[in-house]
Order: sequence, then structure tokens, then C-alpha cells
Amino acid sequence: MSTFVSEILRLNAELVEAILNADYALPVLAYLIPSAIALLLKKHNVRIIFICNLLFGFTGIAWFVILIWAVVAPKNIPVKQIAKECDRCKELIRTSATVCHHCHQDLKKS
Ligand SMILES: [Zn+2]
Repeated sequence: MSTFVSEILRLNAELVEAILNADYALPVLAYLIPSAIALLLKKHNVRIIFICNLLFGFTGIAWFVILIWAVVAPKNIPVKQIAKECDRCKELIRTSATVCHHCHQDLKKS
């Protein structure tokens, strides 16, 4: 058992060393370009894009699909910009709403 654990630790150290090695750093960075684009453009589903990039990017075609997805994915809009709290029931509703769909409060009056 301990040899198995030490073998895993040795392989892990080798992997980290290989990633940090300059020979592999550029390919690893290039591989993660879709995730970087999604992160920099503040896309809504950065985590899902990253996971798909990590798991399926190696197939090549999936990498291109994820790259396009990262570019066209909707931006992550803060909740405060699209939702507000109803004065009466305190539920979240659209900022453009004229009637609360929870308590039917007419928001045009207030
Ligand atoms: Zn309400």
C-alpha cells in the first residue's frame, strides 16, 4: 500500500515538474486558451467551460468547439443589474417588472 502511495506521489511530482518545465508550459497554456478567454471576458459559465476544456479539449475538435463557446457565451451579469427586491414580499424580481409575480404588488405606484 505504501509503495502504491509513494508511486502516486512520485508520478504527481513528475507531472507538476513537467507542467512547470518550459517545454510543456506553452502547450499547457495553449490548451487552456478557451478557459482563459472565458475568464477574461467574464462569461457566465466559466467553471463549466474550464471543466469541459480540461476533460474534452484533448480531442482537438472539442477544443475548437469550447473555444467558440467561450467567445459566444453570454456575459456574467451581476444579479443587482437584472433583479431587484420587491418592497412588499422581499422576493427577487426583474428590475423592469411592473408587477411582482410573487405577491402581485403593483410596482408602478411605488
Ligand atoms: Zn412581491
